Amino acid sequence: MLTTTPTLQKRVLAWYDEHARDLPWRRPGTAAWGVVVSEFMLQQTRVDRVLPAYVLWLERWPTPAELAAAAPGDAVRQWGRLGYPRRALRLHAAAAVMVERHGGEVPSSYADLRALPGIGDYTAAAIASFAFGGRHVVLDTNVRRVLGRLVGGEALPPPAVTRAERERAEALAPPDPLGPRWAVATMELGALVCTSRAPRCERCPVLDACAWQRAGAPPYDGPARLRQRYPGTDREVRGRLLAALRDAVGPVTPAALAAVWPIDDQRERAFASLVADGLVPALTSAQPDPARPNQRMPGSSRETVRQR
Ligand code: SF4
Repeated sequence: MLTTTPTLQKRVLAWYDEHARDLPWRRPGTAAWGVVVSEFMLQQTRVDRVLPAYVLWLERWPTPAELAAAAPGDAVRQWGRLGYPRRALRLHAAAAVMVERHGGEVPSSYADLRALPGIGDYTAAAIASFAFGGRHVVLDTNVRRVLGRLVGGEALPPPAVTRAERERAEALAPPDPLGPRWAVATMELGALVCTSRAPRCERCPVLDACAWQRAGAPPYDGPARLRQRYPGTDREVRGRLLAALRDAVGPVTPAALAAVWPIDDQRERAFASLVADGLVPALTSAQPDPARPNQRMPGSSRETVRQR
């Protein structure tokens, strides 16, 4: 690579300063809890759908202690149609652990964050970095794609994070205190410019240094990538059943559930999986608070792949 690493860093950071979206969880003064909520919601859902849900969630539960004091079913109801609703239960469980072990505060260390329910490597690194300014390798889908193209010359990264990717990301990250800003800047570059299907390379601040472009933009030749399907799948049936349970004012009869999806064995399989995930017990153990009707989220019931 002809362009030096400090030059790459400088250009990407300058691009971010000019083009970053104004997202509430990035604003100065955002509490660590706000960062946690945003990271849970963004794990599988697009920013435009997360925005209204994020605001309503923090209005209702501005601290971990307030969420921990609520019923898990309320968390699932409030999650609404964001998709992958187990995240609501895990966020609730994480808030409970923060209360039990961390005095109601979000822990700041990567290790303590990683030990919380629903928090994996990426999310722990993101929270430690964005909420507390730690220098961590934050490798989400967007960052992996940017670094894979820019340095590795690959159209798309491999299905799972590799050690080589971690080492490359570590080598490229600037020293403190720029680490967190670099992480969010590369994430934003992947979301807005170096997109999966149609990268806008003409707008890229590091086009002249991009290994993938220099190689003639070769197509992806790795293992087959699974395409997310939704219509007719068990995921769709789960979503429909959950919506019926979530939106019901009283008990839901078997006939009402049967009306949701006509194929008996598929419906029963989906329902059993909702029971196993704890979602049905959470929703049926407590009725919604009549003083606080469910604040529905706009958008379809489709669950989507994360796109920051
Ligand atoms: S030049 Fe294109 S492919 Fe390379 S990093 Fe920039 S946007 Fe991505």
